[in-house]
Amino acid sequence: MKLIFEKGSTGRGCDLLPPSDVPVINLEDKFKRQSKLNLPNVSETELSRHYTELMKKTFGVNDGFYPLGSCTMKYNPKINDDMAKLPGFTDIHPLQSEETTQGALEVMALAEEYLCEITGMDNMSFQPAAGAHGEFTGLQLIKAYHEKRGDSKRDKIIVPDSAHGTNPASAAMVGYKVINVPSTNEGYVDVDALRDAVGEDTAGFMLTNPNTLGLFEANILEITNIIHQAGGLNYYDGANLNAIMGIARPGDMGFDVVHLNLHKTFSTPHGGGGPGSGPVGCKLLLSDYLPSPRVIKGAEGSYHLSYDNPDSIGRVKAFYGNFLVVVRALTYILSLGKEGLKHASINAVLNANYMMHQLKDTYHIPFSDHCMHEFIISLEDLKKEKGVSALDVAKAMLDYGMHPPTMYFPLNVPEALMVEPTETESKETLDEAVRVYKKIYEEVTSNPELAHGYPRNTVIGRPDEVGAARNPVLRYVYNK
Ligand SMILES: *Cc1c(COP(=O)(O)O)cnc(C)c1O
Repeated sequence: MKLIFEKGSTGRGCDLLPPSDVPVINLEDKFKRQSKLNLPNVSETELSRHYTELMKKTFGVNDGFYPLGSCTMKYNPKINDDMAKLPGFTDIHPLQSEETTQGALEVMALAEEYLCEITGMDNMSFQPAAGAHGEFTGLQLIKAYHEKRGDSKRDKIIVPDSAHGTNPASAAMVGYKVINVPSTNEGYVDVDALRDAVGEDTAGFMLTNPNTLGLFEANILEITNIIHQAGGLNYYDGANLNAIMGIARPGDMGFDVVHLNLHKTFSTPHGGGGPGSGPVGCKLLLSDYLPSPRVIKGAEGSYHLSYDNPDSIGRVKAFYGNFLVVVRALTYILSLGKEGLKHASINAVLNANYMMHQLKDTYHIPFSDHCMHEFIISLEDLKKEKGVSALDVAKAMLDYGMHPPTMYFPLNVPEALMVEPTETESKETLDEAVRVYKKIYEEVTSNPELAHGYPRNTVIGRPDEVGAARNPVLRYVYNK
């Protein structure tokens, strides 16, 4: 496929800019661009066809089953986008005066109230732009808390090996030393090892729950208690709240700070890498450190932005975060309601368990008693016995019009495939997926030599992933 710069012809264009409604200013030469601006020279027809061609080459939730584990690729109701494109939300400027943006401030205040209720937290900031950014922000709160108390020897964050990979990375970015605690054979935090790991140098503990094995942590109250006893704080990675919303709350489990991924659980499409939102909620003991400004509801019912937060860790993003993602999340919460949210989680867990139990006699499923919203297949034996890898099986799924599950994650399960069907898939879709997964298993075991040739029916086969990672070509070079 040609790039848009390689299409069309010089002089062609489709700019339909309205006449300027502001005075035209003559700029000094030094501010003017010295070389020609390279823009595509295409007509509207060519432009439209270009994007349609691109669209057909990709695969999204609107194309078919997309069970990408740890990503919650659920169907996002279109009403969210109807709300997010209301001119009252899209046509405002972040620097507008508060009297003129009361509606937008109310959206943030309401979303904060509901999400605090859902997580059991007291306050929340919507500034972080993604989950990992939320982790970074939440850990800064923990750091600020210890510093304010003059407790400077706490320089370690404890992270179980079943945590999401971003957890240790975020802790390291904040400047903490990361202490790993192992999991038991059943896939839960080894509580004895945790007891040995805590001490006067423990700043905090990060728990991904459900963990990356798809399991609800077994001894949470004991774990959070051990950390609190040692003077540390508890961080809850709530990116995968899809499994528990409306049913269990991190705030009731002894957690002091939590981040959510609105672009997963609270239904913003996120296939293309953004925009996201990783709000951070915390208990009162950390509220003073939250990013500034904060939205405050005044006694007379109006909203304002408070910049008077001397203990705040400061800004982590321009203005108030990705506001329209918050509009979508609030729409989702209001349209589902308390019972609807709970129902979504129950069905997410039910769908994952249904699929897992249908597949467990065919594939090796290391933790197969029950799972939360996702489950893991290990193809270690298949790899050893037949030379067929998780990648081969994943590529085969593409031929059946299904997106493969997450591959090679979590790291502590060899040849892992991580399947998260989500609540928005019907029983028929799950049954069809089960049929395809079983058929592929049969194909690759009876003809292992053919397994490396998948996919056979897609526009793109197997791109050179190593080449793309090692030598990324991210910029188009003109006139080469
Ligand atoms: C997705 C995810 C993250 C990271 O979120 P991003 O928005 O991709 O930065 C962190 N933790 C868990 C458990 C996740 O699933």
